[in-house]
Amino acid sequence: MHSVTLLGATGSIGTSALDVIARHPGRYRVHALTAQSRVAELADLAARFRPEVVVIGDPALESDLRRALRERSVQCDARAGAAALVDVAQTEAADTVLAAIVGAAGLMPTIAAARAGKRLLLANKEAIVCAGPLLMSALQASGGQLLPVDSEHNAIHQCLAGVGAGQRQQARLVLTASGGPFLRRGDLADVTPDEACAHPNWVMGRKISVDSATLMNKGLEVIEASWLFDMPVDRIDVVIHPQSVIHSMVEFPDGSVLAQLGSPDMRTPIAYALAWPERIESGARRLDFATLGALTFEAPDLQRFRCLHYAYAALRAGGAASAVLNAANEVAVEAFLQRRLPFTRIASTIEGVLDEYQPAAPRSVEEVLDIDRQARQRAGRLAALHA
Ligand code: NAD
Ligand code: MG
Repeated sequence: MHSVTLLGATGSIGTSALDVIARHPGRYRVHALTAQSRVAELADLAARFRPEVVVIGDPALESDLRRALRERSVQCDARAGAAALVDVAQTEAADTVLAAIVGAAGLMPTIAAARAGKRLLLANKEAIVCAGPLLMSALQASGGQLLPVDSEHNAIHQCLAGVGAGQRQQARLVLTASGGPFLRRGDLADVTPDEACAHPNWVMGRKISVDSATLMNKGLEVIEASWLFDMPVDRIDVVIHPQSVIHSMVEFPDGSVLAQLGSPDMRTPIAYALAWPERIESGARRLDFATLGALTFEAPDLQRFRCLHYAYAALRAGGAASAVLNAANEVAVEAFLQRRLPFTRIASTIEGVLDEYQPAAPRSVEEVLDIDRQARQRAGRLAALHA
């Protein structure tokens, strides 16, 4: 029986993971559920999954959480704030931690789980983008294990199963990207948040939906892949594949290409990560090859989708550039979602911050957080100018 902490339980990934867990009651027990502010949803999940601990990130909501749990006759340890998130990520009471908080806000609990030697199911790509080397060395030191939930990295993990270190060094990764809702749209100046969040194939949180529309999501994933699979930037390619059936591929020196396919449903990679090295039922619809139709591929347009270009540039620059890129993107995306920044200014805000702020490589998580703060301030200032 695995005992699981779900960080970001109310989100798109969190609820998909709970759906998979509910299908296997003899296999997984929920130790802790966390959310930032949606008290009622968190309490509803607690009533259904009966965890030992429930954490609300916003400390001002602690008494609301207690009341909501009382109203539902849920008895558990109710806590609030950042330190409580770190506690449930590292507690001995759970062997598995799903990191599904959105943004660099998930960094501290994700690192805590890595340091504590957990089986870490990583969805929170921003954490590995801003602190990749620190996260990977924490896992190595603790003997913890990282299983990628992001569908592309999950696909690559599957394609690399049984491939030795020597052969990995000669492999090439091909990340697939749907292209997002604006793949064929000409003028992007008047794009609204709702249009940007209407993804053709996936239902996701609003931040990652905007990232998919700018292709920054693929940029963050290129950086994520380089840390996860110890892969140099020149051996990570991106190809647009609008059907989202092939979730990514690995090419070997003999010309063979291995791919992982499935319906676009995050329950498949979540189930893989939960059960690895076994396989369990996920609830995802099976592919029907008789009706699937054509699978198509094209090169990404890095002139139109500048964010992908800046992500490659940040990975090439090394040091703190990925942390700066991530922070600037988070601020710009939030400004766009609040209708304070035009869609096309997301990329120019990021470019501006990368140009003016080039701190040294962070040596500790505290230094990452400091770089994140400073980059956010600069991004806020530039976004206000671009508004
Ligand atoms: P979401 O917005 O639906 O959910 C985010 C969760 O994080 C919520 O439970 C929220 O309460 C919590 N949260 C938000 N801010 C927080 C804070 N400051 N402190 C603590 N908790 C906070 O997002 P999502 O779509 O589920 O994505 C979660 C992560 O998974 C992101 O990093 C995303 O890039 C990654 N991811 C998502 C998908 C997907 O299909 N949704 C696919 C691949 C990767
Ligand atoms: Mg992905």
